This record gives sequence, C-alpha cells and structure tokens, in this order.
Amino acid sequence: MTNQHSPDVVWHQHNVSKKARANAKGHRKPAVLWFTGLSGSGKSTIANALEQKLFELGYHTYLLDGDNVRHGLNKDLGFNDTDRVENIRRIAEVTKLFVDAGLIVMTAFISPFRSDRQLVRQLHAVGEFIEVFIDTPLAVCEQRDPKGLYIKARAGEIKHFTGIDSVYEAPLTPDIHIKTDEMDIDACVSVILQYLQNGEYLIR
Ligand code: ADP
Repeated sequence: MTNQHSPDVVWHQHNVSKKARANAKGHRKPAVLWFTGLSGSGKSTIANALEQKLFELGYHTYLLDGDNVRHGLNKDLGFNDTDRVENIRRIAEVTKLFVDAGLIVMTAFISPFRSDRQLVRQLHAVGEFIEVFIDTPLAVCEQRDPKGLYIKARAGEIKHFTGIDSVYEAPLTPDIHIKTDEMDIDACVSVILQYLQNGEYLIR
C-alpha cells in the first residue's frame, strides 16, 4: 500500500462548507461516533438503536457497519494485522467524507488497536471524533456469541479472532464508556444521546 500521490493531485476547496451542510440538516455540528469493543460486545446493536432514535428525532445519520463494509469497499482485506490496519484506515477516510457531508455518522468496528483509533481521531477536527467504548467482558461476549464466531474461534476454525488469539487494546480515555453488562440497550442509547445533547451536537 502506498501513501504517495501525484503532485498534480490538488485538494479542491468547495464553496459549500461542512458547517453549511450540517446546518442545512438542522445539525449544530457533524461528528463520528466511533464504537469500539469486542465482537458481540454490542456495538452494532447500540449503534443501530441510537441511529433509529436520532432518525426519529429528524437527524441525518449514517451507520457504517463492520461486516457490511467488508462485503464491498474492503472485501479484498482479511484479518491479519496489516489488513486490519488498512481496514480501519479506509473506514476512517470514509467517515471523514461523511462528516464533511454534515452527517452524524456511527461506526461499528472492533478496531482493536489504540494506535489506529488515535490515527482516526487525528484525521478529524477536535470534537468531531467521539470514541465510544462498548465495554463488555470477554466471558459475556462469548456467552452471547450472536454470530456463533467465538465457538468457531475456540475450535480453531477462525484465526486471528480478537480476544482469543488477537489482541484487543481497550481505550484508556474513551469519550463515552458503556458497560453493557450493567445496562439494557435503551439505557446505553440514553447515555450517548445525553453526551450529544451536553456537547451541543443536537439542537432538538
Ligand atoms: P458487535 O456489533 O459488538 O459484534 P452485536 O451488537 O452484533 O455486537 O451483538 C451484541 C449482542 O448482545 C446482541 O445479541 C444483543 O442483543 C446482546 N445484548 C444484550 N445486552 C445488551 C446491551 N445492554 N447492549 C448491547 N447489546 C446487548
């Protein structure tokens, strides 16, 4: 993978700004809510419920889900460390475009490496990257096993599975910390909505 591009490729400044796009949607400011956590921790479930709530309140949202992105944009990538880094890098660039479009975007990727998440944070303006740690003990995730993946990983049928034979680096200072074994889904959603309201992302 190369990060070089031709010197003839110049960034175009557009007449309609990010802020104007956001305001046209009735948002105060766009942002990406970056959900991170083990497989089965509840990222997709909570992001999905949050998106539905925001949508009902009239906000313009988009949810980027790990499995869905791997069906298209990132279908050429696997699960070794190099591919995981590239997976997150591409998604980060996509979130930047969505934020530029003025949306409230949510991502649900394990994103196990602290350094990757830090890179995503640096890509975004201050306040536009919100790290949401879906903190669920491995034992609980394994018991839930919503996709039957842990049982396969334990049987050695899936290699490089986060939490089993691939590391998960928990956020040290997440913007939002959710413990799903202590709260039901609605309560988890409420914590995030409250954060958005307190941070003046939402106007309604
Ligand atoms: P991930 O996207 O992190 O891999 P999923 O959202 O696909 O995880 O799966 C989480 C599973 O845990 C779902 O079956 C969900 O119904 C269940 N679950 C139980 N309690 C909670 C909770 N408080 N928050 C989120 N998910 C929960």
